[in-house]
Amino acid sequence: MEGEDLMKLIGGIICFKCKKSFCVCEKIEKYNPKIKNLEEFRRITKYFKVMANANYYHKYSLVVAFQNIGKKIAYMGTAS
Ligand SMILES: [Zn+2]
Repeated sequence: MEGEDLMKLIGGIICFKCKKSFCVCEKIEKYNPKIKNLEEFRRITKYFKVMANANYYHKYSLVVAFQNIGKKIAYMGTAS
């Protein structure tokens, strides 16, 4: 799956506080970021194996998504 396709499915990251993708809340991380369509992510984890052409936002979204469903995730590599 390509990074962009994953974003179309899971809707990216939203602010826990105001539920917007790009908010004016200071530092979205502070407010426990959430994946917009978490149920969709739960569904695709059954067959999701590889992500290609992923930028830093796609990778970060994947980390947040796994954290949101209660999984521990280790991440290594460059940011882009
Ligand atoms: Zn916000």
